[in-house]
Amino acid sequence: MAEAKITKRSEDYSRWYTDVIAAAELADYAPVKGCMIIRPNGYAIWEKMQQALDGMFKETGHQNAYFPLFIPESFLKKEAQHVEGFAPEVAVVTHGGGEKLEEPLIIRPTSETIIWNTYRNWIQSYRDLPLLINQWANVVRWEMRTRLFLRTTEFLWQEGHTAHATDDDAEKETLQMLGVYKRFAEEWMALPVIEGRKTEREKFAGADHTYSIEAMMGDGKALQAGTSHHLGQNFAKAFDVTFQTDQGTRDYVYATSWGLSTRMIGALIMAHGDDNGIVVPPRLATIQVVVIPIFRKPEERERVMAAVNNFTAAFKAAGIGVKIDDREQYSPGWKYNEWEKRGVPLRIEVGPRDLEKNQVMLVRRDNGQKTPASQDDLAQTVRKTLDEIQAGLYQKAVEFREKHSYPVDDYSKFNEILDRDAGFLWSHWCGSDACEDRVKAETKATIRCIPMNRPKETGKCIVCGETSEGRVIFARAY
Ligand SMILES: [Zn+2]
Repeated sequence: MAEAKITKRSEDYSRWYTDVIAAAELADYAPVKGCMIIRPNGYAIWEKMQQALDGMFKETGHQNAYFPLFIPESFLKKEAQHVEGFAPEVAVVTHGGGEKLEEPLIIRPTSETIIWNTYRNWIQSYRDLPLLINQWANVVRWEMRTRLFLRTTEFLWQEGHTAHATDDDAEKETLQMLGVYKRFAEEWMALPVIEGRKTEREKFAGADHTYSIEAMMGDGKALQAGTSHHLGQNFAKAFDVTFQTDQGTRDYVYATSWGLSTRMIGALIMAHGDDNGIVVPPRLATIQVVVIPIFRKPEERERVMAAVNNFTAAFKAAGIGVKIDDREQYSPGWKYNEWEKRGVPLRIEVGPRDLEKNQVMLVRRDNGQKTPASQDDLAQTVRKTLDEIQAGLYQKAVEFREKHSYPVDDYSKFNEILDRDAGFLWSHWCGSDACEDRVKAETKATIRCIPMNRPKETGKCIVCGETSEGRVIFARAY
């Protein structure tokens, strides 16, 4: 096994990020530029994310289905905004079975078009609504500048596509799923997020409006962690999906779509990782506790392992994912380092001297804290400690975000703050595209969102001085 060295985070954040991925064996580069091989350690995190989200989707009445990877090229052209937004990054298949295809096929960049083409056959009456479907799939968007997990040409995600009888129902669904994403980010990923509405410039191509959750990464930059779109009747009109209302009239169906991707693994690395590697929040860790038995002589090994088998027996029943690393070809120190790089939330060290005191040593990955603990009821102690780590990671991320958030009323300060610290800049904005574009061009910061729970506060647009009703978040983003 190659010894992977991790660049210090403060030295070169971008190098640190790729080093952490290599050290934890999360992903590899693929032969095709921009593609990614997700290794078992990375995929295990994705599976945990899937399980958590899938459970929440089903609790809210959604079912899973699967639509094809190939979409007739003509479909994309049916919704004007949609084609404009996606055409530049679409991969097109022109040949199949050794012959030129009559109509080229696109590889789905997202599935609204093929799904709405299908919904036309599935929806006839208000009794068929709402239609609540989710798909777990891969999508392809041809990217010029790629980074593992954050931006790759092919990525994994889920995409929800729902159909409703009224605009109001579609809006409720859009907000409900945004809420699901927020809960997932905060309760599972220990990642605090801000819910808000995207500006016209930043909304999904083909949406009436878009909401997102925005998180702050460890370098102060923003990351869009999930989006939920109210599509209005745009796709129903493009694909002629109408239904008979309960009044007997015909109307176009209202739509939503919402997605969250493997980019969240990148978010997890950047939000919680440190100079020793990734830190996986306990609720997303397959191995939550690693036990490192310490021994020199065979008779010590026997005694230590007997104790380990004894106290870990109750772990499974307590729902604790445990790994006992009793490999003899590696020293305990080497193993500590190895499991730290992989982000295992808690380590248990136990040697002959601990046995005399009926104890073990608990070492937390998030803050390095070492505490002795009794072997009696160890499963409960571990459970409690894992909960504390989960809560601690969230708290730390909240504090970090607050420390790097600034109310800014002077536009000339923008670049100075962004260059020094990145961060979230809460500033007034008049609502015009022109002011938004100017800030982006001059500072590389975009409006991340118009926060939903922002305080009402009259002010003046930071660029033009026109009246504004409240602050929006400007930040440089991934
Ligand atoms: Zn303005």
